[in-house]
Amino acid sequence: MASITFLGTGGGRFVVLSQRRYSGGIWLDLESRILLDPGPGALIRTLEFNMNPEKLDALFVSHRHLDHYSDAEVMIEAMTHGTKKKRGSLVIERNTLPYISEYHRKAVNVLVPMAGDEFWINKLRVQAIPTVGHVNSLGFRFHSKNGTVTYSSDTNLDESLIRYYRNARVLILNCISPSGTEIKTHLNVDKTIEIALKAKPELLVLTHFGMQMLNSNPEKEAARVERESGIETLAARDGMTLDLDNLSGTGEGNLDWFR
Ligand SMILES: [Zn+2]
Repeated sequence: MASITFLGTGGGRFVVLSQRRYSGGIWLDLESRILLDPGPGALIRTLEFNMNPEKLDALFVSHRHLDHYSDAEVMIEAMTHGTKKKRGSLVIERNTLPYISEYHRKAVNVLVPMAGDEFWINKLRVQAIPTVGHVNSLGFRFHSKNGTVTYSSDTNLDESLIRYYRNARVLILNCISPSGTEIKTHLNVDKTIEIALKAKPELLVLTHFGMQMLNSNPEKEAARVERESGIETLAARDGMTLDLDNLSGTGEGNLDWFR
């Protein structure tokens, strides 16, 4: 089954430090198995949600903030049978690579793409995409036979990003705060509405919630995005799996997306 599982939906230091939402990253089961942004607890959540880290093909780290990279070394050990087997890839933003020890780098194939670069993880074609207004960070597009899955990572909104967000079957946006908040380094709900209107994904998924977003209820905020953009929108939940094999398309109601 091609699927996307959220091993965490928290973002920002206070949500992550309180674990009010988990911070284990996003597990993609496409032509390759990939863990995106292994923050604090990635291994624990991987096991909690019955994923096998020895089946991972790659670990992706979008930038050097703790909620995105902290458990990269733990996951490298889990992926490589305790570094006994050199296997799998580490795809990592250039400035984040120094955070990973030499010892752990040697256990994997290290890829350091620049925004715009395309590469393959086994039979899955991937493109690193830019971000704007945040510490150096990369988003990613996964061109699966089940459709394109696009992950924004942490970014502000900029017109130049829209072309990378277009043609997505599932667009995952790190939407840290609710509507009406002033924020220049991240997306809020108002900016996600703008992106939804311009990029028109088949399904929009909001994740990486900060305290204010949690306090104002992510489901309610997602419903607002859907109402104002006409794009089917979900607020991710910890442990949520989207089944990409059996989608019934838009307009059928959110339950169709769940396993
Ligand atoms: Zn973040």
